[in-house]
Amino acid sequence: MLKLPLPALNDTEGHSIPSDLPFVVDAHVHIFPDGIFKAIWDWFDKYGWPIRYRLTSPDVLDYLLSRGLGHIVALQYAHKPGTARGLNSYMAKICRKFPHKVSGMATVFPGENESERVLKEAFEMGLKGVKLHAHVQCFDMNSEEMDAVYDLCSSEGKPIIIHAGREPNSPAYKCDPYVLCNAEKLKRVVENYPKLKICVPHLGVDEFLPYKQLIEKYDNLWLDTSMALADYLPIRNPVKLEDMRLDRIMYGSDFPNVPYAWDREIKRLKQIKLSSESMAGILGENAVEFFNITLRQPACHARHKRAGIVTRGSKPREYVHRH
Ligand SMILES: [Zn+2]
Repeated sequence: MLKLPLPALNDTEGHSIPSDLPFVVDAHVHIFPDGIFKAIWDWFDKYGWPIRYRLTSPDVLDYLLSRGLGHIVALQYAHKPGTARGLNSYMAKICRKFPHKVSGMATVFPGENESERVLKEAFEMGLKGVKLHAHVQCFDMNSEEMDAVYDLCSSEGKPIIIHAGREPNSPAYKCDPYVLCNAEKLKRVVENYPKLKICVPHLGVDEFLPYKQLIEKYDNLWLDTSMALADYLPIRNPVKLEDMRLDRIMYGSDFPNVPYAWDREIKRLKQIKLSSESMAGILGENAVEFFNITLRQPACHARHKRAGIVTRGSKPREYVHRH
């Protein structure tokens, strides 16, 4: 089991997305209202790792977009019952400030009162799907209370991104991720809801091999790469990315809650030397399909334009980082 907390890496950061890359969608970015962000950073400092980019939500999005990101999927999660409605309105409001650039995901606390109503309202506000976190929200993904969420998302065609991997575990969680999470349980959800699109972040950390096999078998399951390509977490991954089913892998960063440079995983992805088709899929097209993202222009067109966006627009905005 992973031993936390871990140290910061003072690796160098690039000033923009390399111009030879295709259109990039970051499928895993966190935003929260200021007070919750602060509480999360304090928690991470103590039990996880030092957060390198302590930015407010609008600055998180500005930061990445000004460095050449084409589109961002923004996530948040309710830590307790009764807070999801407020968080979803907050998410919808922020997304409106970045038209065609940010897709927001809804949150709900599984089992809370009116959970279906909460999600319906969120979808009416334009949110694209639901983010769930088993460690923070302490739900069993096979419990009955989850069916309401799965049923609704399945019938409305909304994807779910669900932290279902056992790591990074911490004794500071109120529940034991090793009891709640395993690939077998997630497989049951995927089988019971064949029309429900599900993404498991961090390549399923630390059950990399079972998740590799699951995406080969099930067309309704995707994985994102967040933190799993960084070579940061001291967890061995026996699976090579190039051996995986690459049309089911999405690039995601976990920005700003990372202890290293914002573009660390993009640089590592480049080093793997995948085909240009696979790179275009992982870096953008797979996420466009999974989240039903509406771009102002087709991704292939946007790709040619992207380099121009960086130079024609403003300089990448600078922010003070607290290391
Ligand atoms: Zn995350």
